[in-house]
Amino acid sequence: ENAIRIGIVGYGNLGRGVEAAIAQNPDMRLVGLFTRRDPAGVKPLSGVPVYGMSELERFRSEVDVMILCGGSKDDLPQQGPQLAAMFTTVDSFDNHSAIPEYFAAVDAAAKAGKTIGMLSVGWDPGMFSLNRLYAEAILPEGATYTFWGKGLSQGHSDAIRRVPGVKGGVQYTLPVQEAMDQVRSGSNPTLSTREKHTRECFVVLEEGADAAAVKAAIVSMPAYFADYDTTVNFISEEELRQNHNTMPHGGFVIRSGQTNQGASKQVMEFSLKLDSNPEYTASVLVAYARAAHRLQQQGQSGAKTVFDVAPGLLSPRSAADLRKDLL
Ligand code: NDP
Repeated sequence: ENAIRIGIVGYGNLGRGVEAAIAQNPDMRLVGLFTRRDPAGVKPLSGVPVYGMSELERFRSEVDVMILCGGSKDDLPQQGPQLAAMFTTVDSFDNHSAIPEYFAAVDAAAKAGKTIGMLSVGWDPGMFSLNRLYAEAILPEGATYTFWGKGLSQGHSDAIRRVPGVKGGVQYTLPVQEAMDQVRSGSNPTLSTREKHTRECFVVLEEGADAAAVKAAIVSMPAYFADYDTTVNFISEEELRQNHNTMPHGGFVIRSGQTNQGASKQVMEFSLKLDSNPEYTASVLVAYARAAHRLQQQGQSGAKTVFDVAPGLLSPRSAADLRKDLL
């Protein structure tokens, strides 16, 4: 059998997305899901078997790549190094400031296990990181801007739900149109946090809660909202369920550069508009699982990021085919 054999570790939004993405890639086969919960209680969308984490070890010769779908905050710092010691892995670790430390831990485990630990794959970090790198390498004189949204922010939604008097809620991050227009014009503006993004909240109040107090607590919350212009809309539970039950996201990486002593403005832009953040992130993970497997087959080992992967390794097509059709 030539198919790349995949396992999924952790079955949340991302895990379900990977399951669906594997079905779109005929060169891959899903062997099973691995969960910390009671496997009997986890019902996959496909008929794939579910295993407990204690069974991982016996799949060392049955699975080529484990796609880690746990959370970045608490799950991956532990699971990443632990699993990279046994399997070639791919994950979407997105705690940007902790990446160097995480890289070192995964690198040591993967080198010892002669595996590849492909980390921080997704859209940001991931596709956005790649585009920041391309833009900066090609246009050394200039500035790079990243705008996010419109998108649902899980972290900010959680923060709203912790405010006393709040029953439920979601938060959307929106890029400020005027700021994007300025950047695209090539004027290299200096933009404050407040000038780049706004935040929009949809909140369901608990019975008898004071709306004005809840609003004040949200907009003044340090780190999350205080540095932004934030709007708070109060809605019913029914509206929250009906209109705010998907996870859209996206954004823009824009490099405003110059050549010929500033006489020529050169603007590079990459953008994403995603109906489903986890389904897209999962699709990126699956393409990088193919690359990780190929690197491992070449005899490489250690931690890798999107910066270390040649683009052709992501594609199921041959190098000759790619040169003929896409170059
Ligand atoms: P979820 O909260 O849906 O899932 C995380 C884990 O929670 C699962 O793997 C699962 O592990 C566990 N879990 C426990 N109870 C349940 C339950 N009842 N239902 C579902 N899962 C449960 O997180 P997401 O999948 O949405 O996101 C995972 C991570 O992906 C995020 O932390 C984020 O950092 C990262 N991410 C990265 C992006 C990027 O661009 N790089 C973009 C988007 C997300 P188990 O089965 O073992 O219990």
